[in-house]
Amino acid sequence: MSKRIVLLGPPGCGKGTQSKLLVEKNQFIQLSTGDLLRAATNNIQSKVGQKIKTIMGEGKLVPDNYVIDIIINKVSELKNRNIIFDGFPRNIEQAIFLDDSLKDVSMKLDYVIFFKIDYEVLENRIKKRIEESNVAEQRSDDNLETLSNRINTYKKSTLPIVEFYKDKGILFEIDGMEEIENVYENILKIIQ
Ligand code: AMP
Repeated sequence: MSKRIVLLGPPGCGKGTQSKLLVEKNQFIQLSTGDLLRAATNNIQSKVGQKIKTIMGEGKLVPDNYVIDIIINKVSELKNRNIIFDGFPRNIEQAIFLDDSLKDVSMKLDYVIFFKIDYEVLENRIKKRIEESNVAEQRSDDNLETLSNRINTYKKSTLPIVEFYKDKGILFEIDGMEEIENVYENILKIIQ
């Protein structure tokens, strides 16, 4: 049976790293709205593309209609696959939208994995990510000023989703400060 999981947590909590492991070892498909938005805006000079880039550079949320457009086609293409939603949903409206669109194609979310992590740890991780990446792969929003905006956006818009999924009985917390391998094992215990 295919599984659909959401990885939920602040920027730098390890969602991307864990997604990669689940893709490599467990036949998941990763749907990262951040990656999809970066890919969609990288080569376009249109006003809309520029506007989205600016919003991302400020660490704010891109308006729901753009994000939803980008993700909706993918979901229906991947009907019988294991899917990880990485960075989506990021607010209650998106969470409701995801529920409704999965229902429309007779699918549902199985697990929401919530990464608990101290905010000070995030700053150090992002600093490390900046140091270790080469210029070509550096993200324009990986800087300490944008990080603090991204964390504020997360607290204000994304954290309320935790209660939404708790009420549905599909929220599972994990300690995002453990070693990568342990976090991965803990995720497997939840989803297997
Ligand atoms: P990420 O790669 O997940 O850290 O996302 C990078 C940036 O893309 C975020 O700071 C937002 O500006 C934008 N973004 C990604 N996913 C979403 C989403 N679900 N809703 C709105 N904006 C998003």
